[in-house]
Amino acid sequence: YKSKLPNVSTNIFSIMSALANQHNALNLSQGFPNYPSSQKLNDLVNNAMNTGYNQYAPMPGNLDLLTAISNKYQLLYNNSYHPEKEITVTSGASQAIFTIISTFIRPNDEVIIFTPAYDCYEPAIELNGGKTITIQLSAPDYGVNWETVKSKISSKTKMIIINSPHNPSGTIWSETDMLQLQDLTKNTDIIVLSDEVYEHIIFDGEQHQSVCLFNDLKQRSFITASFGKTFHNTGWKIGYCCAPEYLMSEFRKAHQFNVFCVNHPMQKGLADYMQDSKTYTSLPNFFQQKRDLFLSLISESRFKIKPSQGTYFQVLDYSEITGEYDVDFAKRLTKDFGIASIPLSVFNENDKDDKVLRFCFAKTDETLVKATEIICKI
Ligand code: PMP
Ligand code: GLN
Repeated sequence: YKSKLPNVSTNIFSIMSALANQHNALNLSQGFPNYPSSQKLNDLVNNAMNTGYNQYAPMPGNLDLLTAISNKYQLLYNNSYHPEKEITVTSGASQAIFTIISTFIRPNDEVIIFTPAYDCYEPAIELNGGKTITIQLSAPDYGVNWETVKSKISSKTKMIIINSPHNPSGTIWSETDMLQLQDLTKNTDIIVLSDEVYEHIIFDGEQHQSVCLFNDLKQRSFITASFGKTFHNTGWKIGYCCAPEYLMSEFRKAHQFNVFCVNHPMQKGLADYMQDSKTYTSLPNFFQQKRDLFLSLISESRFKIKPSQGTYFQVLDYSEITGEYDVDFAKRLTKDFGIASIPLSVFNENDKDDKVLRFCFAKTDETLVKATEIICKI
């Protein structure tokens, strides 16, 4: 057969995690915590299993969870999404993203993404016959040139995918960025897919600039979110998306035949857990302690450092250490130094020259101490 994805092979997360296991290296590559998810949350999921939440959930999601999510938007952003009409629980943010793209992208539609970009957007666009238009963000700031964006938008542009806090660079978009996006999309029928999986992992008192804070943007946008990122259990693969009803009703036409609904006891457990809003309002502090510990312990290293503004990733520039290609360097560090990271060039179709590695600091303090001792020896 002729592959529909001829340029796709095993993704970098699988490659680096396997290499880390093979060499018994500390794995700061793939983004996942190495500490347990909350006992209280686990108990609430068990409780849901023991009290009858073991059959299909309603297709859009368990109503208690939809309500808890809606309450979160009210509390954090003073903004409303109707629990039954404008929120759908998905199998991780990944499934939400895939389904959104499949629902709206037709052959030859153009979708703008900003590179380095998380790796699941482009294959979904391609599978649906769409054309990916990339706009390069470059180290060290990964800022957006809005004139370039303006020049890439045309009548063929169907969707723009944004992601702040940004994986892999750890940068965030400002209010000005959001206003620029709002201006450029005004009076168009462009859909914005705003991947906000790291909304609660943001530092130094910054406010997450959700699309829902901008009225005109909200009207054309999907937000995608991930409980795996939020509550330290990436293996549960539960997330959700929010959008105005006219978009969400289209999404659900596809979602109901894609997965129909997702894991019911976990949805109920998450709903009960979120009754206490501190479970999510405490997250920026929790992660800032990890970021600060990581940064303080590598201040003497030879890497160039620009502190992460959000996500649980820190990128480190090694241009003063070696001129090696980043994929080779990341593999060598795993084999010879015992620490695995993610090379950024794999997310950069047009720019293979950046000398930057991404390290995940969602790790126990003990792991961070060991990892930073290694980093300081590189
Ligand atoms: N978007 C971004 C930017 C991510 O980093 C990830 C990985 N967690 C996802 C989406 C997918 O999230 P999930 O694991 O909930 O599918
Ligand atoms: N989102 C995670 C990361 O960026 C990886 C998820 C995956 O393995 N696909 O590291």
